[in-house]
Amino acid sequence: VVEITDLHKSFGPREVLRGVDLTVAPGEVVCVIGPSGSGKSTLLRCVNQLEHATAGSVRVLGTEINDPDVDIDAVRQHVGMVFQSFNLFTHQTVLENCTVAQRKVLRRSKAEAEKVALENLARVGLADRAGATPSQLSGGQQQRVAIARALSMDPALMLFDEPTSALDPELVGEVLAVMRELAEGGMTMIVVTHEMAFARDVADRVVFMDGGTILEEGPADQVIGTPREPRTREFLDRVL
Ligand code: ATP
Ligand code: MG
Repeated sequence: VVEITDLHKSFGPREVLRGVDLTVAPGEVVCVIGPSGSGKSTLLRCVNQLEHATAGSVRVLGTEINDPDVDIDAVRQHVGMVFQSFNLFTHQTVLENCTVAQRKVLRRSKAEAEKVALENLARVGLADRAGATPSQLSGGQQQRVAIARALSMDPALMLFDEPTSALDPELVGEVLAVMRELAEGGMTMIVVTHEMAFARDVADRVVFMDGGTILEEGPADQVIGTPREPRTREFLDRVL
């Protein structure tokens, strides 16, 4: 689903990604961990072309997206993204939030879009809040709406960038539970997270980034339980 080869990204003179290789197979859940500033968000943003790679190859769903002629919207419509901040449209209802892109991008009818939206709101446990506006919901509920909105586009790949780190601690669990169900349902996911218990339980593979490269990757139990690299161990000692 994703095939990244020797990806480099610089902001001016500052090289933030220094040769990243990462492959994600269908149905795989990859958690990306690492210290602040190591390039985790930049890596995700290169996967849906919110950032343009400086060098290297990024293939998403078979398309080389680092090609200037690529129709990026055609790729992006298959890639769901959930950020730390929920990015919901505040003056629209929950249902409208989940139907706008379906109607505009996928050209679904109003009835069809609402049906799909309600199915996905049910999946995240919020079917009864379809008529609410985001401000009437808790942070955890808003983030679940953001997930339902992304799912309503029938994505082949979901990207999560620290989806729970803006939440009050008591609201983290409900969002992780939704993500866990998605993972168990076979969704292909790349998840940047500081939730080590989640990574250990849910990830098929954990990737540790440091200084713009992948320093270590492997099965969750290995990377988090018995890391090979001293830098990984040091990071885990700080966050666990
Ligand atoms: P965090 O855990 O804090 O979210 P991160 O691993 O996601 O960190 P990135 O956000 O990818 O790190 O940032 C990596 C480096 O790139 C940082 O030093 C950051 O300051 C720099 N950076 C990110 N975006 C830009 C930008 N648009 N312009 C200039 N520098 C940037
Ligand atoms: Mg980040």
